[in-house]
Amino acid sequence: MNYLSTRGDATPRRFCDILLEGLAPDGGLYLPQTYPQVDDATLNRWRGLSYADLAFEILSLYIDDIPADDLHAITRKVYTAEIFGTTEVTPLTWLGDHIALEGLSNGPTLAFKDMAMQLLGALFEYELGRRGETLNILGATSGDTGSAAEYAMRGKKGVNVFMLSPNGRMSPFQQAQMFSLQDANIHNIAVDGVFDDCQDIVKAVSNDLAFKREHRIGTVNSINWARLLAQVVYYFAGYIQATKSNDEQVSFTVPSGNFGNVCAGHVARMMGLPIKQLVVATNENDVLDEFFRTGAYRPRGTADTHETSSPSMDISKASNFERFVFDLLGRDGARVKQHFGAPTFALTADEHAAIAGFGFVSGRSTHADRVATIRRCHAEHGVVIDPHTADGLKVALEKREAGVTMLVLETALPAKFAATIVEALGTEPPRPAGLEGIEQLPKRVKVMLADVGQVKAYIHAHV
Ligand SMILES: *Cc1c(COP(=O)(O)O)cnc(C)c1O
Repeated sequence: MNYLSTRGDATPRRFCDILLEGLAPDGGLYLPQTYPQVDDATLNRWRGLSYADLAFEILSLYIDDIPADDLHAITRKVYTAEIFGTTEVTPLTWLGDHIALEGLSNGPTLAFKDMAMQLLGALFEYELGRRGETLNILGATSGDTGSAAEYAMRGKKGVNVFMLSPNGRMSPFQQAQMFSLQDANIHNIAVDGVFDDCQDIVKAVSNDLAFKREHRIGTVNSINWARLLAQVVYYFAGYIQATKSNDEQVSFTVPSGNFGNVCAGHVARMMGLPIKQLVVATNENDVLDEFFRTGAYRPRGTADTHETSSPSMDISKASNFERFVFDLLGRDGARVKQHFGAPTFALTADEHAAIAGFGFVSGRSTHADRVATIRRCHAEHGVVIDPHTADGLKVALEKREAGVTMLVLETALPAKFAATIVEALGTEPPRPAGLEGIEQLPKRVKVMLADVGQVKAYIHAHV
């Protein structure tokens, strides 16, 4: 399998060539040349597999430059009940005959990003070891990505992590999760500023090509193809758990920010998984909902990006969205380049109509909706959900169709976002065993001014 760029560069690259890279050299995102098709017999055979073995089967269709035995060992090491809490790995919780939550947030940092990041950590260690190289991951986080990356890379040979976060602005639980790590290869840098200051520093360091090369700087952001591929697996796992026969169709609702999670659903659907609808749920930051309704894509500026109670969906520009637009426009790289080179773009009426053929619909949810949905779900089913999952459930209940099972992807556990749960239910959310009192553990974090020079000096001194 070879990979190409959404902006037209068709230089063939294999999986391990793009594993450690971010954007393609022409500024596009990598996608496979074709989507492998999963036929009825194959899907039936997959029904009997464990999550780890299912992951191996799906990854094998896209990765032909890692020996099968090695890849299988990696998926069996990563997708275990020890790391993800249950033998199903992504278990369903039914909220009625035709609606269920698919639990994606039972990994070490209690958010769905662990599903992909844990695999990425294992793949990085494997590939760097094979090449005899090392990598220093530099990232910025407002919460879930940074902790997922750190828990995936902690103790891994050949990898250091330098993670910038806005000093004092993450929830106490999120800070405790990251800063309590004592591993020598994990470096927490709390920057006196906001998330955008952290992001700007990461960009400035990455744009200094000499520094980047000398210090072997890499990233783990959500545009990484391996992360997206890992997420394809749980659409299959959810479908298999929810159905008895491949004649049944299932819809998914996905709380969305950077469009990474739901883009994996698009890939699963393109592979032939019987998905009826892919419902994109946004919060007040509704760039994507606007696009699906009107065909106009108008990314917001920082000043127009609202801080909400589902903070991991507070995005102004959906970084993975270009992948879907590439498929929607018949894989015309020149047009994608033109569209994403402009500040905004609009589809033609025919193109907008074509979206339905890809199963996408969308909806939006507000703070009041989240609080009401958390209350309703608790009252009717005794299940406490987090604010992001609540955005999903709110939109799912509006969009679901009679007779079609709807799976709502649960993207975080409520323990991570206690303040909104207290507002909705008047009580603290349940906390998984072993995480009581993590706020009291010793913290390992370096506080710095929002200054590129200081961050570079720190990296230089610690690699
Ligand atoms: C990252 C995140 C999202 C958004 O996922 P995308 O892949 O960026 O669309 C939603 N919910 C939670 C809890 C997250 O951490």
